[in-house]
Amino acid sequence: MIPAHAPLSLYIHIPFCREKCAYCAFYSLPQSMYECSLVERFHQNLLEEIRQLCAMRTHPFETVFLGGGNPGILSVQQLCTLLEPIQALGPPCEITMEINPESITAEHEALAGSGLNRISIGIQSLRQQHLDTLGRNAKLEHMVQALDLVGRMRKRTGWRLNCDLMTCIPGQSVTDALDDIDDLVSLAEPDHISLYNLTVEEGTQLARRVGSDALVLLDEDDEEKMLRSCWEHLEVLGFAQYEISNFARSLQSRCIHNERYWNLDDYVGLGPTAAGTIACSDRALRITGAPSVHAYLEGKPFSTYGTEMLHRHEVMEEQLLMSLRTSDGIDKNRWLFRFGVPFDDLFASQVEALRGGELNLFTDSDARFSLTKEGLMVCDAIILHLSSALRPPS
Ligand code: SF4
Repeated sequence: MIPAHAPLSLYIHIPFCREKCAYCAFYSLPQSMYECSLVERFHQNLLEEIRQLCAMRTHPFETVFLGGGNPGILSVQQLCTLLEPIQALGPPCEITMEINPESITAEHEALAGSGLNRISIGIQSLRQQHLDTLGRNAKLEHMVQALDLVGRMRKRTGWRLNCDLMTCIPGQSVTDALDDIDDLVSLAEPDHISLYNLTVEEGTQLARRVGSDALVLLDEDDEEKMLRSCWEHLEVLGFAQYEISNFARSLQSRCIHNERYWNLDDYVGLGPTAAGTIACSDRALRITGAPSVHAYLEGKPFSTYGTEMLHRHEVMEEQLLMSLRTSDGIDKNRWLFRFGVPFDDLFASQVEALRGGELNLFTDSDARFSLTKEGLMVCDAIILHLSSALRPPS
C-alpha cells in the first residue's frame, strides 16, 4: 500500500497543547489532561511507526510536516529522534514544524541539524484584546520575544518562516487587521503568511460564548470587506496570494507540503486524527488515525488507523475543492490523465452558466481553469455548482 519509491509526503500529528484555545476544534489534549510520561510513551509509539514506515521506503519523502497540537510540547531531543529515520532515507526538500510562540527556545536551533528548514508560528494577532477573545495562552510579549528569537535563528539557519494570522475576530476592525499585518511584517519579515478568517466550530468555547450573546460575530458584508482589504494589503507588501488563505513572497516561499495536498498528491499521516491519501488509479485510499491518544498508546503500531476507498466522483470533488482554492487552479492535462475524461467536457454546462454572470469569476484556458479573486470570494458556491456535474441524475 505504501509506495516504496514514488513521491510521498509525511504529516506527523502531535496531539498536545498547553491549553485549549477558545476557537480550536482540532484534536489535542490540554496540559491538564496529560503528564510527561504520557508524552514520552506517545513519542516512543510514534517513533516506532516512523521507523516502520521508513523501512517500507527506498526513496526520501518529498516533504514532512510536524503539526498539531503544538509540536513544541515535545523536547528538542524527542523531535530530533523523530527526524532521524526520515533523514536516513535522504533529506526531504522541505521539513516544516508548527510551533506556538510561548514554546520556542534557543535550543530549537538544533533542529536545523536534523533537516528542519521551515518553521510555522501561530501568531493569530498582535493585539492583546484579540488574543484574549481567541483564548490564546500566549501573551503579546511572548509573540514579540518569539519573533525576535526566530529572527536571530533564521540568520544562522536560513529557515523559511510562516506566520498564521486570524481575521474577522469579534471586535476587530479593518484597521486592526491591517495593523496586525504591518506589525508582523516589520517585526519578523516572514516569507509566508497564512491568513485565516475565524470560523466558529461547534463544541468550542467560542461557540458557547457566541451562543450566549457574549460575542457578536461580523456579518457577511463586513467579513468580505475585511478580507478584501487584507488581501489587497498583502499584495501591496509583496505577498502573492497562491491559495485562498496563503500568501508567499516568491515562488520559492510557497509551502511545498501544502501544495502537494492541494494537488491531491500522495501523503501519509501519522498520529491520532492524522489523515493520509494514496491514489489508486482514479480512486484513492484515505487513511485516518482514530481521535484518541489513549487508544493510540494501547494498540500496536498502525492498529488505530481506519481506511476508506474514495470513489472516482469523490476524488474529483476533492480535486475541485482543493485545486480551485489555489491561484494555479485545475491543471486540465493532469485531470485528463487521472480521470480519463476532459475537464471541459465534464463541466461544460456548469462553466457556461458561470460565464453568464456579471462578475468575472474565473479564467479558463486550454491548460487551466482557475478562479479570480472575485471567484475566490464565493469559491464554496462555485465548487458546489461545479460538483453538480458529478452527481448521477436522479
Ligand atoms: S495551540 Fe493550536 S492546536 Fe492547540 S488548542 Fe490552540 S489552536 Fe488548537
